Amino acid sequence: MQDCGDARPQQRLGEKRGLVTRRSIYLDHHATTPVDERVLAAMQPFFARDFGNAASRTHVFGWRAAAAVEAAREQVAAAVGAPRARDIVFTSGATESNNLAILGALRSRRRGDRVVTVATEHRAVLDPCRALTAEGFSIEVLPVASDGLIDPDAVRRALTPQTALVSVMAANNEIGVLQPLAEIGALCRERGVWFHSDAAQAVGKIPLDVETLHIDLLSLTAHKLYGPKGVGALYVRSRAPRVQLTPLFYGGGHERGLRSGTLPVPLIVGFGCAVEIAAAEREREAVRLSQLRDRLSQTLDRELPEVHLNGHAESRLPGNLNLSFDGVKADAILAELPHLALSAGSACTSASAEPSHVLAALGLSPERRESALRIGLGRSNTLEEIDLAAAELVRVVRALRGHS
Ligand SMILES: *Cc1c(COP(=O)(O)O)cnc(C)c1O
Repeated sequence: MQDCGDARPQQRLGEKRGLVTRRSIYLDHHATTPVDERVLAAMQPFFARDFGNAASRTHVFGWRAAAAVEAAREQVAAAVGAPRARDIVFTSGATESNNLAILGALRSRRRGDRVVTVATEHRAVLDPCRALTAEGFSIEVLPVASDGLIDPDAVRRALTPQTALVSVMAANNEIGVLQPLAEIGALCRERGVWFHSDAAQAVGKIPLDVETLHIDLLSLTAHKLYGPKGVGALYVRSRAPRVQLTPLFYGGGHERGLRSGTLPVPLIVGFGCAVEIAAAEREREAVRLSQLRDRLSQTLDRELPEVHLNGHAESRLPGNLNLSFDGVKADAILAELPHLALSAGSACTSASAEPSHVLAALGLSPERRESALRIGLGRSNTLEEIDLAAAELVRVVRALRGHS
């Protein structure tokens, strides 16, 4: 069989750094998650055997692909409480969904020319909002409190007759903070303003229902919920109110004209499967993860002085901890613990290594920001791993503080 190049670069990298003898522990589930074995199995037939183009209307290859896509659309719709599966538009991920929602809503010019968002949003929300200013639209970025929460009254005060769209994320990717979507959604509905939410970190982790929350546009991505990278969706409400979007690009008119391009059928099938599993296991997994998270946090608190939690203590994702360790730099901790897969809280998740705008928005001092670690627990983590990670963190922080 033809060899498709080196399929194991990670292992080679590990060998080079001499890490293979130590088992790595993955605590970075906000960055991405592994594909679930069940998801992989569901996708497999759609690469080579059932390879048809879902837009081919005249033969069984196309029909099979189209049926698989529509089944996945139903699965995604069900997971977010969307009453009409056709309101789900498949995209390449949450970055594209956010761009389509924000640029598409404003450029449609069906409402006003103002967009309101929040300082702690992902760059995939803030940057398209900023890009709109070059097209003559105006943007208002609301601050958050020191716990990361937005005050719904601040949103109320920011609304003007010109406001077309409000964009507030469901769960933050750095500090895990859950925003009060129900209040903001009700407010937007009452004022006739479209409400968008980036739910990349929230779907499959916390209950989310576009009807009860009055969400008009909702961004999702598969790779944060144990599905494949490169696929996501935008929920676009088609009734009461009907949201009208201008597409980002043009072509074959797929996805109701909102997202032209041949559908990646295997990825969509995997997304549907992953979202269904995540919804079915959500409650049990949330209890398990919050117990592991609390155990980790309690061990660190007990063993180390001056550890601070960044972000609201209760209104946060079950698997998230963002901690600052006074007197030590997060980069120094990470350098000592290459087998713990963690992120420095100060480096945001974008391709460019800029300091975290999220921690800055909480008003944290540069010292607190530079000593912040983001810990993201997920499905693969065991009690044993958490205890091991806690012990290692305690050892390294003590050593770096100079009293071991
Ligand atoms: C990961 C993430 C994104 C980007 O999603 P992609 O599918 O990787 O483009 C956007 N928003 C949030 C909150 C995220 O966590």
